[in-house]
Amino acid sequence: MVNAAFSGVEAADSQRQRHWWATMAGPDARLTGAPAGLTSPRMAIREILIAPDPRLREVSTPVDKVDEALRALMDDMLETMYDAKGIGLAAIQVGVPKRVIVMDLAGEDEEPRPQFFVNPEILDPSADVGPYQEGCLSVPDFFEDVDRPLGCRIRYLDYDGTEREEVAEGLFAVCIQHEMDHLNGILFVDHISRLKRERILKKLKKDQRLAAAE
Ligand SMILES: [Zn+2]
Repeated sequence: MVNAAFSGVEAADSQRQRHWWATMAGPDARLTGAPAGLTSPRMAIREILIAPDPRLREVSTPVDKVDEALRALMDDMLETMYDAKGIGLAAIQVGVPKRVIVMDLAGEDEEPRPQFFVNPEILDPSADVGPYQEGCLSVPDFFEDVDRPLGCRIRYLDYDGTEREEVAEGLFAVCIQHEMDHLNGILFVDHISRLKRERILKKLKKDQRLAAAE
C-alpha cells in the first residue's frame, strides 16, 4: 500500500478509493502496533467506542489549554489508534468530548508521521466534491463511499499549542473532514442513505448484544 499515491490524488479515481480505507482499518492495514520510539510506558491503549454508542453523538467542547494532561490524552489516542490499525482518531471515540484529533497518514514503507490537531477548524472547503470509500474505527468492518469537498484549509493548535494553518487535499482532506465530523457528533454513515445507515447500525448493535451475552 503506497500512501504517497494519495497526495494530490483525484478522489474520483475508483482504483485509489479502493485503497484508502485499507490504510485506515482492516485486514491488510499497515501497522501492527505502535512504531518503536513513539511510545512510552506512560501511554495506555483506551477502549474505542463503537456505534451506536450515544456518546459518539456528543458535540465535543473546545480545549482551553494545551498542557501536559492534554498531551497525555493525545499520546494515549495515538497509541490506541496505532493499536487499532487506524489512520485517524477523535477524542470522543475514546469517550473524551474534547476537540482533539490524532492522525498518521504515513505509508507502509515510510517513517511514522503522527499529527495532532487541537480545536481544528475547516476553512474554505473546495466547491469540488468527490467520493472516497471511508471506514471508521467506531463503525468496524463497514466501508462506504462518502462525498466531501476535495480540499480545504485547516487551522488548529499542534502538540505544543502552537497555532498552525495548512492546506489539506487528497487523503488528508478526507481524513480531517471525517475526524472533524466526530467532534460534531457525526459519523460517516450519516452521509449515506438512511436505509444503508440503519442496516449498518442495527448490525453493530446486534454484534454488541451477542458479544455481551458470551
Ligand atoms: Zn471515524
